[in-house]
Amino acid sequence: NPSIEYDEIMDMIKERVIVNDIMTHKFWQPYKEIAKQANLRSCWSEPIIASNGKVLGTFAIYHKNPSKPNESDIERINFAANIAAIAIENKDNRIDLEKQAYTDYLTGLNNRRSFIEKTEIELHRKERYGREFSLIMFDIDYFKYINDKYGHNTGDLVLKEIANVCNIILREVDIAGRIGGEEFAILLPETNIIEAEKVAERLRIAISDTKVFSSLYEEVKFAASFGVTFTNNNTNILISELLNQADTALYKAKNSGRNKVVIYEN
Ligand code: GH3
Ligand code: MG
Ligand code: MG
Repeated sequence: NPSIEYDEIMDMIKERVIVNDIMTHKFWQPYKEIAKQANLRSCWSEPIIASNGKVLGTFAIYHKNPSKPNESDIERINFAANIAAIAIENKDNRIDLEKQAYTDYLTGLNNRRSFIEKTEIELHRKERYGREFSLIMFDIDYFKYINDKYGHNTGDLVLKEIANVCNIILREVDIAGRIGGEEFAILLPETNIIEAEKVAERLRIAISDTKVFSSLYEEVKFAASFGVTFTNNNTNILISELLNQADTALYKAKNSGRNKVVIYEN
């Protein structure tokens, strides 16, 4: 497609280009053989320009013979390019907004709503196809103290670093979310409780090994407490119960010394 390279030219000049005869026009010299094979002889290109001035693409009309647009052709091409710009921008905006609505602004992880929706999908999958999965919930230990001692910005840095650790340790298929201020949850598809405990333990160690530095270059250490639960086809469970189970185990971890992993037991 000769117009792929053409887009680059359009991006530079941001103007309509009328090539009456491809065989003689300088822009087309590198591609004129391909154009000949495709039986293209003239090309009228209109840039599709976004409201911020960025070129989104080109709207091009080709003819088999040398040809120039008249005034009414130009008006219609212009109109089509404008409509295309609006449509493309609209779609890009929608995708951005959707992404924003599901993402935690600070850490880039799933936000609570997104995490719950994805867990619900996994629950349906479990019921329909007999899948199993585990759920980890964790909460930073003495986070209030970190904020009080080093300031809120340092607290935010800790949250971001923890998200980073999750991204490093988890698999592509795992789903990590920030479901509260300093509370995280992780869904591990196709993972039994023994494996899930190992993952939680790896996360716990990695988090307690991580440091951030305050604005005064003080070394800030932190840790988290973990609750883990598991579900398979033998149990019929609501998402609220599942979260409660993980939370119950997490609460036990908090009450038995913190910086540890506790498995939910009935
Ligand atoms: P525990 O070990 O029992 O979990 O103690 P904790 O201090 O972590 O728990 P607590 O619930 O008392 O405090 C949570 C703190 O988390 C209080 C709140 O200011 C802080 N926090 C919540 N969201 C954010 C945030 O987005 N940024 C920062 N920096 N702090 C936050
Ligand atoms: Mg908390
Ligand atoms: Mg806490």
